[in-house]
Order: sequence, then C-alpha cells, then structure tokens
Amino acid sequence: MSFRIFVASRSYSKYSDKTRQFLKENDCILEFNEIDRPYKEKDLLEIVAEYDGIIVGVDEVTDQVIKRGKKLKVIAKNGVGVDNIDLKAADEASIFVVNAPGTNSDSVADLALTLMLSLCRSIPLINEMTKEGRWKRKIGTELWEKKVGIIGTGDIGQRVAARLKGFNCQLLAYDINQEQEFARKHNVKYMELDDLLQKADFISLHLPLNKHTRNLIGERELGMMKKTAYLINTSRGGTVDEDALYNALKEGQIAGAACDVFAEEPPGQHKLFELENFIATSHIGAFTYETNERTGMKIARNLVRALKGERPDNVVNNV
Ligand code: NAD
Repeated sequence: MSFRIFVASRSYSKYSDKTRQFLKENDCILEFNEIDRPYKEKDLLEIVAEYDGIIVGVDEVTDQVIKRGKKLKVIAKNGVGVDNIDLKAADEASIFVVNAPGTNSDSVADLALTLMLSLCRSIPLINEMTKEGRWKRKIGTELWEKKVGIIGTGDIGQRVAARLKGFNCQLLAYDINQEQEFARKHNVKYMELDDLLQKADFISLHLPLNKHTRNLIGERELGMMKKTAYLINTSRGGTVDEDALYNALKEGQIAGAACDVFAEEPPGQHKLFELENFIATSHIGAFTYETNERTGMKIARNLVRALKGERPDNVVNNV
C-alpha cells in the first residue's frame, strides 16, 4: 500500500535527498506544488480530496479544505507557526496537525542577528550606493553592549539571546510565560511590555500569531520606543500593524525596522518599501540547507507514523 502526499510547501525536502529517500522507502508518493506560490483555499479545494497527507508552508488550510479532504490523515507544517491551518476543523475531522518545533530556530535566530546588524549599519543602502558608483557613507550605531528587548522567549527568542551574549548586550524580555532558568543562564531581565518598549535599543519579535498577538506592536507601542531604536520582526507579519510602522518610520518615531514577514505574503509593492530605513526579506528565516534537512526529516517521520496509524510526535491540535 502506498500513500499519496501533496507537498504544497515549495521548499520541503528540496535540498535534502535524505528526506526524499526516507519517504520513498516508507511508501509515500510525493506530488509537488506546480503553481510556484502558496496555495490559496480555492487551489487546495480542487485537489485535497485525493491525498492521504499534505505538507504545507503558509498555504491556506481552511475548514472547507479540511472538510473536503476525506482521505486526509495528517497535515504537516513545514516549520513551526500553524496560524494558516484551521486547527479546530482538524480536531473535528480527527486529522493530526504536526509541526517541527526547534528544527528551524537556529536559522531564524541567525537572521534576526543579521537584520539587527544590517539595520544599524544601513548595509542594504550602502551596498546599493556603492555598487551604483556613489562612494558615500551613512553613520551607523553599534550593537555591542546595547539593550536588546526580546518579545517571545520561546525556542527562537532564547537562541537570539544566546547569540547576543557575544555582543555583551543587556537582555530585556517580555513573554506571558517566563523561563527563569533561561533568564538566569543568559542574564535576561523579564519586564512588562511597556517597560521593554521604552528601554530597548533593538527589539526583536519571536511570537506566534494569534488573537492576543495580532497587532501587538501598533501606534501606541511604536510611540513608546526610543527614536534611536530598531524593530526586527522575523515572527509573523500580523504581529506588527504595518500602517502604524510605516508612519513611525516616515516620521522618524523610530530609527529603522526590518521585517522577514508580512501581513499579506507575498506583499507586492508595499508602501514600506519606499522607506530607506526599512529592510525587507522574503520570509527567508528558516530557508537554509541545515533547516531544510532537519525540518524535512522531523516532518517525514511524523507523517509516516500518522499514515501508519501510530500517534506522531509534535501534534499541535487536539486529536
Ligand atoms: P515558541 O512557541 O517556542 O515561542 C513562542 C513564545 O511566544 C513562547 O515563549 C510563548 O510563551 C510566547 N507567547 C505566546 N503568546 C504570547 C503573548 N500573547 N505575549 C507574549 N508572549 C507570548 O516558538 P518559536 O519556535 O520561538 O517561534 C516563534 C515564531 O516565529 C513562530 O510562532 C513563527 O510564527 C515564527 N517563525 C518564523 C520563521 C521565519 O521564517 N521567519 C520561521 C520559524 C518560525
């Protein structure tokens, strides 16, 4: 018996022969995304009924998609954040939703640091000017010994903290669950969100997107930040109010911001892109060779277990 798996996530297993080989040996026939963009609800509705399992990135797995997937046993997220999957609908249909926590955290933490340094030294702008033959400079700021506020001290936030120790930074944190052992180990000071916003020189977001975190950073919060502060978002676009961010950057309310994630992806010609003090990347946080294999293998093992009637690890819904 073989299993038909639809791979909507365009990067899944792309750089890992080991992952594809493992799935082949476990009777999984993979069929890949052919439209080269995330699947919308309507795209998935057309095909989902044929598959035993789906592997998704940020594709729209709505309640309608789940109801249509009569053969589905498992929905696997190629990553961590499952805000694009209707978990309640999956509960009701007794379909496992699995993810791969921890497997992409080092890559995302690396990117958060990259964006901090790129912002405070205006690297994209200077690169562009230099290559255009304009031998100009823009004064920068050091990251060394600055106050860095980490919002969300889960797996990624903690790895960002570990890296910042190398820059002798003072670490401030906000999270609804405080990790005291981590705080002791990295000399992190937990505080209220408003305190962190007022004190930090750099603020890095590492939160899931849910009804409590949507637009957590809006006009009021940006208004509390220092004029010299930088905001880095490698979590989910919806956690920052993009209109408020645009205004804050344009009016010099904060010094700069970098986002790997947007409320709508792809964002098209976003007005934020007009701004020199804004850096954009295209949701590349987890897109490294190392993560591709680590996440690929974790998802593959969980998928196979679910298909063979066993309970997989990393189930994120109530099945
Ligand atoms: P995690 O679950 O380990 O940590 C999330 C932390 O946020 C937890 O400590 C939790 O207590 C905290 N939190 C939740 N709700 C909160 C709230 N309302 N206020 C304050 N804190 C709150 O997750 P992680 O692995 O660290 O990942 C964080 C997020 O990064 C993911 O949810 C995902 O959206 C995003 N992500 C982005 C990329 C990318 O490519 N850019 C890749 C992986 C993950």
